[in-house]
Amino acid sequence: MKALIIGTGIGGLSTALRLLKRGYEVEMVEQFSQAGGRLNQLKKDGFLFDMGPSFFSMSYEFEELARDAGIDLPFTYHELDPIYSVWYNTPGKTFRIFKDVEKLAHEFRDYEPGFVVKMQKYLESTGKLYHDTESRIIRRNYDTLAAYAGSLMQVPPGHLPKLFRNFWQEVSRYFSSDEVREIISLVAFFLGGTPFNTPAVYTMLSYTEFVHDGYYNVEGGMYKITEGFVDLLQKRGVKISYNTSISGFLSEGDKITGFTDQDGNVFKADLYVVNADAAVFRSKILERKKYSTARLDKMNWTMAPLTIYLGLDQKVPHIDHHNYFLRNNFIEYSNKLYRNQVSLDQPYYYVNVVSRHNSNAAPEGGEAVYILVPVPDRRFRPDWSDREEIANAIIKDLSGRIGYDIQPHIVSRTVLSPVEWEAQLDLHRGSGLGLGHKLGQMAWFRPSNKDEQFRNLFYTGSSTVPGTGIPMAVISSKLVTERIDKAYGSL
Ligand SMILES: Cc1cc2nc3c(=O)[nH]c(=O)nc-3n(C[C@H](O)[C@H](O)[C@H](O)COP(=O)(O)OP(=O)(O)OC[C@H]3O[C@@H](n4cnc5c(N)ncnc54)[C@H](O)[C@@H]3O)c2cc1C
Repeated sequence: MKALIIGTGIGGLSTALRLLKRGYEVEMVEQFSQAGGRLNQLKKDGFLFDMGPSFFSMSYEFEELARDAGIDLPFTYHELDPIYSVWYNTPGKTFRIFKDVEKLAHEFRDYEPGFVVKMQKYLESTGKLYHDTESRIIRRNYDTLAAYAGSLMQVPPGHLPKLFRNFWQEVSRYFSSDEVREIISLVAFFLGGTPFNTPAVYTMLSYTEFVHDGYYNVEGGMYKITEGFVDLLQKRGVKISYNTSISGFLSEGDKITGFTDQDGNVFKADLYVVNADAAVFRSKILERKKYSTARLDKMNWTMAPLTIYLGLDQKVPHIDHHNYFLRNNFIEYSNKLYRNQVSLDQPYYYVNVVSRHNSNAAPEGGEAVYILVPVPDRRFRPDWSDREEIANAIIKDLSGRIGYDIQPHIVSRTVLSPVEWEAQLDLHRGSGLGLGHKLGQMAWFRPSNKDEQFRNLFYTGSSTVPGTGIPMAVISSKLVTERIDKAYGSL
């Protein structure tokens, strides 16, 4: 039995590993020139940059994948401690974020009296939410709305009010200082939203961040995950064709009989798994009315990335591996950012000093620095011809805030705006993390991992269940494999 997987993102690669273990022959096609999707790498001027993700959480999902696929994980990961640093634009107002509550309390000693007790209560509540929903809601396939409603009814009713609050409102019930509220809420940005448009149910991510089980750096850079998985797949006979963009399909009755690429080549298999965005593929390739471009535009999408990759000829002092640069207008900025109502001269941004823990990322004595700015997608800001000017303003701002002028030390520079992100990976309007996570786009309401019309067509990745981010894409590979197991039994 043969499976064709369209896309080599983490969702596609993980699904391939699971299917191989079950005895399927697997072939993969990828429109880009190398594997990884968003988990990709930029190699330039002697520097190595992770293009998208720079750390991951929920390491137990990779361990589960390894057990299910019968592999040893082909990469090594180390827990981050501190997990990251947060810089405000007031000199000296910098916080190092530790998992250890006592150490964290010390960071907030001048801001949040009684922090330890408050944080323990918050983590207790978010932990309960996580454990009450992970197997009942998150790691589940739904065949009917009634089945989803039934699962929701199994969740203890004490969590119900969280359906009606946003992330910020929930966090504010526990903490009174702006600083702690803002920093605990940052995880909503990791989901591609803001604390004001992300439902309170996602406060469970605070539990995965601080307790179960932190954030991890991959030795040698995040791209080692992609390289390691591709290597395992190729050793097991999987053929991967790059620069191959699927553009059409062939069908008979309720079955797909093949997909065609831009040159008219036909790819045939018994079943097909789409790792391209589950909503965009239904729109562009399958031309489903429910996913017309106009309808896609009305859906809730995560913010887009503007990314800057800098190779420096010197080490940057005073800065940790992972850093968030905020300002003193958090509520106003977050609320206006999504719809392009803020000036990007003074944005909020994240800085990853890739070479701090990965010496292979920069030549001896140099530094690889990656800056990620969450920005409005192209529905709200179509034109990004000013991307170099925005990058200049950020480089100047960063230099001022860390007290070290990086501009004269830049020997390599690349800036990618939502335009390039959209073109390279077919991300809708450049949205970085795929479909957003409002209640109407979760679980049963997210594009299904099983096609509505063709019974041998399935989906994996960020815009199908359960959601976005590396661990969620790994869970999505588990959920789609369960679908395939159910449809085809064991081989
Ligand atoms: C800037 C940025 C930073 C991020 N940081 C983090 C982080 O720190 N931690 C974290 O956990 N997550 C992070 N994420 C999110 C994470 O990268 C994604 O959720 C995850 O990698 C998505 O994997 P995927 O399998 O869903 O799809 P993708 O990685 O998007 O892979 C889909 C693949 O399908 C291919 N494809 C699409 N259409 C076609 C077609 N027609 N024919 C052939 N191939 C096609 C694409 O080229 C792509 O390679 C970040 C994302 C971005 C953009």
